[in-house]
Amino acid sequence: MIQQDINYYKNFDSIAKEVLALLAQTIEVNTFFLSIVNPIQSFMIKSFNRNAKLICEGDILPYNMAYCKLVVENGLEPLVIPNLGKHELTSGHPATRIIGNGCFMGAPLINEGEIIGTLCAFDINPHVFKEYDLTLIKSMAALISHAINLEKGIIRDPLSGLYNRNFIYNYFDYHQDKTNEEMALLYIDLDHFKFFNDSFGHVTGDDVIKKAAECFLQTVPEGSQVARIGGDEFIVLLNPSHCEDLMKSTQQNAELLLNSLSTMPITINGNDHFVSASIGISFYPHHGTEMDSLLKKADRSMYMAKESGRKNIQYFHPE
Ligand code: GH3
Ligand code: MG
Repeated sequence: MIQQDINYYKNFDSIAKEVLALLAQTIEVNTFFLSIVNPIQSFMIKSFNRNAKLICEGDILPYNMAYCKLVVENGLEPLVIPNLGKHELTSGHPATRIIGNGCFMGAPLINEGEIIGTLCAFDINPHVFKEYDLTLIKSMAALISHAINLEKGIIRDPLSGLYNRNFIYNYFDYHQDKTNEEMALLYIDLDHFKFFNDSFGHVTGDDVIKKAAECFLQTVPEGSQVARIGGDEFIVLLNPSHCEDLMKSTQQNAELLLNSLSTMPITINGNDHFVSASIGISFYPHHGTEMDSLLKKADRSMYMAKESGRKNIQYFHPE
């Protein structure tokens, strides 16, 4: 996800670029890169190569093949390896068998106490890193981690972990610039949500919001965006680019969302409860080319769904 977020956030992109350029001015090796890691792979989100293109943006390495795994296992301090062929951690490493006596230095990127990526310097020749190189890469990794945290705060709803209203507006601009394909905007409001707050307290209400968020995330097709824009209000942007029939695929996906939510048991004090939702839908660009106007139209349709007895789907119709 973060990788996708980063693509939309040019601010972060320019910070990352400047950090790598600064490292390159100070540390005399060929390659610098920023990677996001997960237990399967290491994904290069930004790179700087002085001469030889050793590591490029967008490269993906299996986690076991990447020295980044060693950085993660090393904990909070930077890992410094002047000669890969001679260091106990790397002499038998599969990557060293290909590279030989290169060098590597990497510091972890930390988000909410977890290592999510690395900031690294690398070359295919050995290099003795100076004490200052180590301090610099550590400080820069802290700066990048902070920037990632800030970006997350700006685009995510802290309760559900979903995107927020701000992200949806940014994504909309991004979508218009990049593909400009038609899409559906689903405005979803939970039905009688106050019942949970009033009967079991605000914390249980929060849990219902989190469960609904998880359910929406798991149900939407790939490439869709899900956001929480208010109390019990969610937005789904469906981008059925691979489908020929926008109306048909929107109806299918909206029904699926409604059914998945309303059949999901919410266990409170040993009893199962259920929550449904009302969905209003507008289409881009047919009902508007501005986010504000599409949101208003989908919201109006959602109220029609409430008036029609809740737990149903309504489309915007121009009067
Ligand atoms: P309706 O079917 O008409 O939508 O009824 P409703 O009970 O769902 O009412 P409505 O959507 O108008 O109200 C949403 C309520 O959500 C109002 C507010 O007290 C509550 N709420 C807003 N933000 C939060 C939150 O972060 N956590 C919890 N637990 N409740 C919230
Ligand atoms: Mg509601």
